[in-house]
Amino acid sequence: MIRLGTPLSAHATRVLLLGSGELGKEVAIELQRLGVEVIAADRYADAPAMQVAHRSHVLDMLDGDAVRKLIDRERPHIVVPELEAIATRTLVDLERESAAAVGEAGVLRVVPTARAAWLTMDREGIRRLAAETLGLATSPYRFVDTHAEYREAVAAIGLPCVVKPVMSSSGKGQSTLRVEADIDAAWDYAQRGGRAGAGRVIVEGFVDFDYEITLLTVRHAAGTTFCEPIGHLQRDGDYRESWQPEPRMTPAALARSQAIARAVTDDLGGWGVFGVELFVKGDDVWFSEVSPRPHDTGLVTLVSQELSQFALHARAILGLPVPVIRQWGASASCAVLAEGHGVPEFGNVDAALRAPDTALRLFGKPRVEGQRRVAVTLGRAADVDTARATARDAAAALTVELR
Ligand code: AMP
Repeated sequence: MIRLGTPLSAHATRVLLLGSGELGKEVAIELQRLGVEVIAADRYADAPAMQVAHRSHVLDMLDGDAVRKLIDRERPHIVVPELEAIATRTLVDLERESAAAVGEAGVLRVVPTARAAWLTMDREGIRRLAAETLGLATSPYRFVDTHAEYREAVAAIGLPCVVKPVMSSSGKGQSTLRVEADIDAAWDYAQRGGRAGAGRVIVEGFVDFDYEITLLTVRHAAGTTFCEPIGHLQRDGDYRESWQPEPRMTPAALARSQAIARAVTDDLGGWGVFGVELFVKGDDVWFSEVSPRPHDTGLVTLVSQELSQFALHARAILGLPVPVIRQWGASASCAVLAEGHGVPEFGNVDAALRAPDTALRLFGKPRVEGQRRVAVTLGRAADVDTARATARDAAAALTVELR
């Protein structure tokens, strides 16, 4: 029997979000709907999820002591990592200490598990688990620390190949190498683009896929449920458009994708939504990455499913049932980026929402420095191509000024 308390009372069910971006904001809203007390944390003030939380804290989430202090102070029942760059070792320790203290499941639960957050914190843990422990198909790869090892790895893997810092997201520091002349520039860029500064990179063979998908996989109290596959378009390693379902997917490719997603998520364990990223060519499928949390390409589920990935995450982490995931039909999302410096102001919002079956999320990011995703447009239609056009038209109508 699952019991949920009343927020701000002695018997509240408290959830701490570590990371308060646009994905965390939607998770916070879903938790609020169930009367959960939501505490949001991030590196900067007024982050999107903080604006819909009961309380918020600003801290360096890579600082283990700071994370421990915050958890001691807030005593959350559930900790929900919203991004990779957090002190996951501390979460592993805290989860273990908590379990030891009560001698059973523990009073503190990290979603989906502290180990999953730790293994997916950088590209190495999860890649080695998938390829070496689970034996799943991936691109050929090598991890290297020095320029000399890097040159050797590129020679061994061959061109074209892809180079990425082990800790990076949104394509930062990532390059595709096609000719000899790209090699040194890609190393320099990877050394500048990593989240933790210069250091280890992965060199991956280029997979000449037909298309790539995110398979949202929900582990919940009664088992595992898959969402319809989400196709997406990436530019510079960052997502620009996503759609659901992916019409090119064959039944064999879908069955393989689900088998891979199940193998990875069963190993990571726990409850919650996972975004399993896969490359597909014909009936062949390669594992690329997994996020043990809702995925940016899954924003499309805000209009494509009765229970979005955020609602599913909220249900799953609380131990609530997911009896069915109803689909509303072909849908698409289009990321809206802003570039420059300042506070976003959106224009033509009315024009962006004029067409039927169009929706919009303005994230409320307090400031843009450089390039940042600030909104997403959403569309639904009779088929995926029309849904994509609807979302793109809405994005094209919207203006973003930085002031
Ligand atoms: P990632 O940050 O690893 O998800 O990479 C971002 C995007 O770059 C992917 O979604 C792909 O579109 C592309 N990409 C990454 N690795 C490879 C690869 N080995 N072969 C081909 N494309 C890749």
